[in-house]
Amino acid sequence: MAEHVYPAEAEVARALDEEVKPGVPYPEILVEMRAKAREQGLWNLFIPDSEYGAGLTNWEYGMLCEQMGRSPVAAPMAFNCSAPDTGNAEILIDHGTPEQKERFLQPLLDGAARSCFSMTEPEVSGSDPTTLQTTAVLDGDEWVINGHKWFTSGAVGADFAIVMLVTEPDAAPYTRASMILVPVDTPGFNLIRPVPVMGHDGGPGHCEIRYEDCRVPKDNLLGERGAGFVIAQDRLGPGRIHHCMRAIGTAERAIEMMCDRANNRQSFGGPLADKQFVQDFIAKSRMEVDQARLLTLYAAWQMDTEGKRRARQAISMIKVVAANMVMDVLDRAIQVHGSLGMSDDTPLAAMWRFSRMLKVADGPDEVHKMVIARRELNRAAKRAEGGGQNSESAGKGATPSADGKAAEPAKAST
Ligand SMILES: Cc1cc2nc3c(=O)[nH]c(=O)nc-3n(C[C@H](O)[C@H](O)[C@H](O)COP(=O)(O)OP(=O)(O)OC[C@H]3O[C@@H](n4cnc5c(N)ncnc54)[C@H](O)[C@@H]3O)c2cc1C
Repeated sequence: MAEHVYPAEAEVARALDEEVKPGVPYPEILVEMRAKAREQGLWNLFIPDSEYGAGLTNWEYGMLCEQMGRSPVAAPMAFNCSAPDTGNAEILIDHGTPEQKERFLQPLLDGAARSCFSMTEPEVSGSDPTTLQTTAVLDGDEWVINGHKWFTSGAVGADFAIVMLVTEPDAAPYTRASMILVPVDTPGFNLIRPVPVMGHDGGPGHCEIRYEDCRVPKDNLLGERGAGFVIAQDRLGPGRIHHCMRAIGTAERAIEMMCDRANNRQSFGGPLADKQFVQDFIAKSRMEVDQARLLTLYAAWQMDTEGKRRARQAISMIKVVAANMVMDVLDRAIQVHGSLGMSDDTPLAAMWRFSRMLKVADGPDEVHKMVIARRELNRAAKRAEGGGQNSESAGKGATPSADGKAAEPAKAST
């Protein structure tokens, strides 16, 4: 990180904006950095199955995510560990046919292609994907896709999209959707624009896409018909640990920068470090980062030792805790840097813009809190009935049900 990534991160951000286009998934500077990382075996670290990747536990990979989160724009791509390719690779490993693995997964693992995940639609609430409107209808040996998506991150440089859409319109809410693989050069895959996000629309983009009579072979269905939610749920836990540990790495770097600035900036007769307001910023930040890290590693440990199901409450909690913690710490670090903090001469402003999405994407805070509260309420209700109170029974109330009342927030961005 110190030798190759930090010195290049500003250049990587500029090059992503200028060089990524259809057929060019990575700018030259990243191509070189990625080759060095691969040579050193620092590649596909996110895959727990050693047949395909590094074979690390969630806890172990979480520690690496913290390091990569210190440079969120450059580092995950450097090590072929960036969303949404990571989540897409995971579901291809678990649900892809041998042909799909060869055609779509292998180029991702080799770093030769990029992908995107196309779920959110402007017309309906992404927090509640049972309302999705995009459809795929089987016509002979082809799916015909029609619909309107946006915030399909990374579509500009991607080779293919995994699209979540309705194939079973008459089924129960959580079995209406499926996932289908769509190469971006398919006629009818119409990339309308990268949606500007906080003044920025360059690079891989968060894209608006219209699927208009877009035809793909029947065999591009990923997993079973109607299994869209099941597949989406499969990637929920690990992806959230990764996001949270990266947020912790971002916050840790912000604290270091805040302290360096406080020690070196003189104001009102002494260093900022002597002012109690600034000390309060630093102390609060240290406490919040360490609390978030312990909770996240606890969730990872629980997932590694007891399984995703038992870890669900901890995973929901860290998603909210880490997303809010990183914004608070970055805000303080920017404040201590004054106008420099608002500028793009330090990584803080870009980290702030990048991190803000964590409170919305991958399930907004409010939806995670709703799910956390429902599990607690279910546990209390079971206790009152005398039916036991372990976390498994608490979790049961939060599985997707036909009425949708206890659904997990759907994972969209990664
Ligand atoms: C930078 C970025 C990248 C993204 N990348 C992708 C991607 O690659 N692929 C993709 O498909 N999507 C992506 N998304 C979309 C993201 O997943 C959705 O924005 C998210 O699921 C929320 O959906 P929505 O925007 O429709 O908001 P809505 O569902 O309309 O929600 C708006 C707000 O309503 C409130 N709310 C919702 N439900 C409740 C509730 N039950 N209780 C209380 N309040 C509630 C919350 O405050 C929420 O923020 C991305 C988003 C961002 C910002």
